[in-house]
Amino acid sequence: MIDWTQVLDPRGTAGRVPALLDQVERVGGAEAWDGLWDELCLDGETVVPASFAALPRLVALGRTSPQALSLAGSIMRGALQDHGADDLLLKCTDAAARLRKLLDQRLESRPAGYLHAFRDLLAADGQYHWSAVLGDFTDDFYHLRCPHCDVEVTVAIGDYGRYSAIRDWHAGDTERRDLRPAPPEDLVGTGRWMYDTAVRDGQDRLATGLTYLFGRAECPRCASTFVIAAEYTAANLPSPGE
Ligand SMILES: [Zn+2]
Repeated sequence: MIDWTQVLDPRGTAGRVPALLDQVERVGGAEAWDGLWDELCLDGETVVPASFAALPRLVALGRTSPQALSLAGSIMRGALQDHGADDLLLKCTDAAARLRKLLDQRLESRPAGYLHAFRDLLAADGQYHWSAVLGDFTDDFYHLRCPHCDVEVTVAIGDYGRYSAIRDWHAGDTERRDLRPAPPEDLVGTGRWMYDTAVRDGQDRLATGLTYLFGRAECPRCASTFVIAAEYTAANLPSPGE
């Protein structure tokens, strides 16, 4: 059991949280849920120590409540914020594992807002970087540097094209080169898992986009090739909280 009097309380309002949790457990209700979002994930993103104190109860509720699942997923997205609750986050290991399982089951039912739940799952799995940046591949750009000649390369994966280019402020994306998607059988690790999940759930656009994201790009300047996801991750990896 959480001793709420011991939970750091930067906004001075976390004392409401146990009563709000009691309320959603007993009767639900939009007002109580709104109150919990305000306390635990303000504006859908800002987490506080109480967020992680409440996480195990939210995950338990998540077995029957999509609202609880959504709030728990959004809290996990904030795990790398400067929330001052690393000790509480560490205690959430079991809850995060249960959350992963529940989110995975929810994805299998192909819910509306699939990508949002998919990104929640990535966060619950500790893939905070991809959780933060993954788009739906209708209009996605990744900016990174060629690992060989250091020129800035713009990678586009969208309906209008899948290419690497040199972005010019006036002329747009110049010197375009077609991306080379990874053959799905060659995917490993996180890329493999993300791809397999998307295929399982009939998310064709997401699955196809992932083969490009985890595939190779050619540098328009020096003609060397590199794996997009690896370079993008290396350049943008947040400091892991572990
Ligand atoms: Zn280059």
